[in-house]
Amino acid sequence: MEFEPVIGLEVHAQLKTESKIFCSCSTAFGAPPNTHVCPVCLGMPGVLPVLNRKVVEYALRMAVATGCRVAEISRFARKNYFYPDLPKGYQISQYELPIAESGTVEIEVNGILKKIGITRIHMEEDAGKLNHDPHRPMSHVDLNRTGVPLIEIVSEPDIRSPEEAGAYLKKLRSILRYLEICDGNMEEGSFRCDANISLRPIGAEKFGTRTELKNLNSFKHVEKAIHYEIRRQQAILEEGGKVIQETRLWNPDSQKTYSMRDKEEAHDYRYFPDPDLLPLVIDQLWIDQVRNELPELPDKKTNRFIHQYSLSVQDAERLTSSKELADYFEACVAVFSDPKAVCNWITGILLGLLNAQGKTIEESPVTAGNLAELLKLVSEDVLSAKIAKTVFDEMAETGKSARQIVDEKGLVQVTDRSAIEVVVQKVMDASPDEVASYKGGKKKLMGFFVGQVMKETQGKANPGIVNKILQDKLER
Ligand code: ADP
Ligand code: MG
Ligand code: ZN
Repeated sequence: MEFEPVIGLEVHAQLKTESKIFCSCSTAFGAPPNTHVCPVCLGMPGVLPVLNRKVVEYALRMAVATGCRVAEISRFARKNYFYPDLPKGYQISQYELPIAESGTVEIEVNGILKKIGITRIHMEEDAGKLNHDPHRPMSHVDLNRTGVPLIEIVSEPDIRSPEEAGAYLKKLRSILRYLEICDGNMEEGSFRCDANISLRPIGAEKFGTRTELKNLNSFKHVEKAIHYEIRRQQAILEEGGKVIQETRLWNPDSQKTYSMRDKEEAHDYRYFPDPDLLPLVIDQLWIDQVRNELPELPDKKTNRFIHQYSLSVQDAERLTSSKELADYFEACVAVFSDPKAVCNWITGILLGLLNAQGKTIEESPVTAGNLAELLKLVSEDVLSAKIAKTVFDEMAETGKSARQIVDEKGLVQVTDRSAIEVVVQKVMDASPDEVASYKGGKKKLMGFFVGQVMKETQGKANPGIVNKILQDKLER
């Protein structure tokens, strides 16, 4: 029997607000343990939470960007469970009435567009962090993260392959980053994903029993873990066995998933509305305002780049992979209006350099204005394309502008015909044997002559003119 995978993802995105969701403690990462805490996020008796307006605004941005229906009235609930990283004994989350429902995200896999449904988006607080001592049977509790705001984005079980899951996650992350509400770093945990997976016979309507995978902390792991889990379930079903509904943990070292616990049910958590928090009321005015202030989103920008700058789909997608990269490109094109040339330099040379240095585009040692000026000098024949790369390297190292480097080093390209003619003559005089061979039919020697002239002029001669003069002189 052939089986079809059915996959639904639950994504937790940490919101980039300055303070926590129900108190004014800082959300900054990396502070000494238990220094960003107060009676509210420590869960002391008698304290009252106050909702951070920014958290609601950020959740609204994501809701509007994914076409969700925003609830006029939503509620916070208590999800009760015990764990040492949860000082209150319950997590404040949204349950029955989330802030947003019924949206979509469009993905593309192998050239095929597909819409993935968003079931719901809700706000909640993060828990603390346990640091397990590797040398002693002891764990340390750090509560700096308790109360850091999250949104959970739950997808419909619309995903059918590990590749679709990867594309969906990348698209979600890209939208979150364009909205500037989450930095989307899976390795650092600001963007986390649980994957629900089941199999059903092809053609069947009813879903099979699912397992939920946790500990997927990179895009690569997500796809690998889902692949593994599909194969594992398939083997069970093919032997006539039954998949058990449970939570499984991905182990990146063994590349396998392991049973962690029985799947908990919602009723296990004894959810009830939090009596300390009023229902959240969102008026249409606020929603409209968020909608009006929404930035251009990734898909739209990609399409605009394709049409406005006549770029290939692939180039446009690369340039719009982050908002910052797209902005850099447009800042270059504003100064030097050859989009294809700018694109080639950015995706080829600049990104290569940044990659090697482990830098982001915002940390680029070459500003957009300076790169544009360099390309302008090449197009105006002041610089040869070959020397341009050398100048670029120098720009990256010193932060100087192209013009400055060209002037300082006397790198201006030689386009003066008579000056080049003198050099050509000199090269020919020094290689009488090669000249004779060339005239005897060994046309491949042209490369040798061009090379000699370039060497003689330290690469500064305009190659077009060099070729032309050599041809004139050798064919005579
Ligand atoms: P819970 O919160 O207990 O994990 P939910 O009903 O909220 O349960 O579902 C969580 C995720 O599981 C959703 O993304 C949903 O699409 C997905 N899901 C539900 N049923 C299945 C199934 N049979 N196979 C695969 N995914 C499923
Ligand atoms: Mg779940
Ligand atoms: Zn606090």
